[in-house]
Amino acid sequence: MKTSIIGFPRVGSLRELKFATEKYFKKEISSEELERTAKELRLQNLKIEKESGLDFIPSNDFSFYDLTLDAAALLNIIPQRYKDLNLSNLDTYFAMARGYQGEHGDVKALAMKKWFNTNYHYMVPEIYDNTEVKLVGTKVFDEYQEAKTAGINTKPVLIGPYTLLKKIRYTGKKNASDFIKDFIEAYSEIIAKLNKLGAKWIQIDEPEIVYDLDESEIKLFENLYVEILKSKKNTKILLQTYFGDVRDIYNKLIELDFDGIGLDFIEGIKTRELIEKNGFKEGKILFAGLVNGKYIWRNNYKKTLEVLNFLKENNIEFVLNTSSSLLHVPYTLKHEDKLKDEYKEHFAFAEEKLNELEELKNLVGKDYEKEESFIENQKLFASERPDAYRKEVKDRVANIKEKDYIRTPEFAVREKVQRARFKLPLFPTTTIGSFPQTKEVRQNRRDFRKGLISQEKYIAFNREKIKECIEEQEKIGLDVLVHGEFERNDMVEYFGQRLKGFVFTNNAWVQSYGTRCVKPPIVWGDVKREQAITVPWSKYANSLTEKEVKGMLTGPVTILNWSFPREDITVKEQTLQIALAIRDEVLDLEANGINIIQVDEAALREKLPLRKSDWFCEYLDWAIPAFRLVHSGVKEETQIHTHMCYSEFTDIIKAIDDMDADVISFEASRSDLKILDSLKENNFKTEVGPGVYDIHSPRIPSEEEIKTQIRRILKKVKKEKLWINPDCGLKTRGEKEVRESLINVVKAVKEIRDEFKGNI
Ligand code: GLN
Ligand code: ZN
Repeated sequence: MKTSIIGFPRVGSLRELKFATEKYFKKEISSEELERTAKELRLQNLKIEKESGLDFIPSNDFSFYDLTLDAAALLNIIPQRYKDLNLSNLDTYFAMARGYQGEHGDVKALAMKKWFNTNYHYMVPEIYDNTEVKLVGTKVFDEYQEAKTAGINTKPVLIGPYTLLKKIRYTGKKNASDFIKDFIEAYSEIIAKLNKLGAKWIQIDEPEIVYDLDESEIKLFENLYVEILKSKKNTKILLQTYFGDVRDIYNKLIELDFDGIGLDFIEGIKTRELIEKNGFKEGKILFAGLVNGKYIWRNNYKKTLEVLNFLKENNIEFVLNTSSSLLHVPYTLKHEDKLKDEYKEHFAFAEEKLNELEELKNLVGKDYEKEESFIENQKLFASERPDAYRKEVKDRVANIKEKDYIRTPEFAVREKVQRARFKLPLFPTTTIGSFPQTKEVRQNRRDFRKGLISQEKYIAFNREKIKECIEEQEKIGLDVLVHGEFERNDMVEYFGQRLKGFVFTNNAWVQSYGTRCVKPPIVWGDVKREQAITVPWSKYANSLTEKEVKGMLTGPVTILNWSFPREDITVKEQTLQIALAIRDEVLDLEANGINIIQVDEAALREKLPLRKSDWFCEYLDWAIPAFRLVHSGVKEETQIHTHMCYSEFTDIIKAIDDMDADVISFEASRSDLKILDSLKENNFKTEVGPGVYDIHSPRIPSEEEIKTQIRRILKKVKKEKLWINPDCGLKTRGEKEVRESLINVVKAVKEIRDEFKGNI
């Protein structure tokens, strides 16, 4: 049996590529130096892969920014505005990725979107009616050659034409079907060239076919490949899928002239069933994605070998593969010296996954139950992990009653009670929570963490900031205040570190986009809150003003979605555990005189299953109740807010209303406000605060602009239901911009309020 991976992380085990690239952006190093670092990292990866015994070693899985952007650049899908800058190829590429502002011009970046159901983001290529799609780049050939020179005949990796056509943004009259011919030619040319260079296998990634597909989509896929596969000669083509199963196209896939088909056995819940029902094609090789490419837990060899045996019994020729690119897991456990071995042995990051593939290779076909590596592996699953199990937590989850998911009295009653209580003006103004995280704020946290300052000093500094922040908001004239979140680095890590059940790493970075990496917490065991987390800060802030100060928490779905979950219990159960912990915090805040509490669910939409048909049964049916569990225990007069980052929830609007919050704020200023139509159509009951200005840019919105935006919103939202706030938290902005922007918001609102007085 042979082994394969789909791709490897590219930023380096200590984020070397990130740091070099950022230096290059700041003009601290030359492009040659950046290229040199990149090459070293590529060769380093090849070496590790080779030495691990891996059979199919990928190339062109490296990227300076993003693979979809690489594919666009390769095919000349480069909007004219970037070409007009007359920069080097590398700088044109970076201009597309992050915009350009300088002596050559001023252009915005391409849009960025989430890559399927991962926390990775890709650049959205833009195509114009006059775009000439043709092979212009050389990256895939260069990297293949580079590896060959280093003695390795790799399997070059490419994003496939179908996925690319689907991910592109069409700016003119033409659509995907107008570009089919050009795509066929370009991909055929790439294959022919790689064939000439000596490539034995090429991996073409088509994750897009794990979505629900209709007839025309299946036809498009078929049309592309019937033609493209004519150019393969003696190079073998592996059609690689991931993030789900290919139930809509499986039968077509095995009929087409692919030499290998890569299927995901982890997220592809129907993969095995598809094979059982329909068989596989003789002469083709199944690349069986059995080692999880997205999560960090050790593979259970027993389960994997059982599937491999099933394939064997069915006379299917296979290669053992990862379920997706290893891009989505951290690089190595080597640098985790703070983590005890009894914890570490349960994890496999990218490098360790290579070992797993090798060990499995040596076990397959053997009487493996007696083999040392198998026995060692099974020990991990037979015994209890240290400090992971808490009976009281399990019991509490088991004892949740239907009524615990329901807040009483119903919304309409609460709305009246709360109106009478808070006596807020029409269009109450507020912010999303965080205020600017200045150098000093971050320094204070860092110094405390490193033990350089005492806890008293740390707290005193934050209290001073809270005081300033409250005074500032009063001066500006906002209605509902916040404490500013100066104690938090990140909305998930902060809570993870203060709850029992999470584990943190030193260097387990995962690329989120470009040079940005995140270090997700790991859900290690049953989650429990042992003491109040935010209460002292909120209470202090509340004591400084007559106005209401919102308590500020992160919701359970977001905490889970931005962590590495456990694999031994369901995601639903983990979310409920976290929900109960946050519920305790909500009740604690309420008991301490906090009358308005916001529970952010920034990432609620992110884990929607890729197939619409699975949205409710697989996700929303427990995610929404989990959110309600957090707040259902509060009194009728306590007001619950929530916040979501993207207004892309038109299609789940009912579910959002079912969260049964009293107020929801969301990012809206960059969207076309279509969401407002659907709020109206669906008779959305929750009060809403669609962001009136974009906080992702340092621009200060004018009073006029904000008034225009509010008027637009008022066409669709009843005036009694409308809150006014920025799009999202203000932590990434400067203090001066924030002050000026918020002053304009308050002025704009006052004028609109005055206009309404005349009308009522
Ligand atoms: N309350 C958080 C903040 O203001 C919300 C952040 C987010 O939505 N991403 O920073
Ligand atoms: Zn947000």
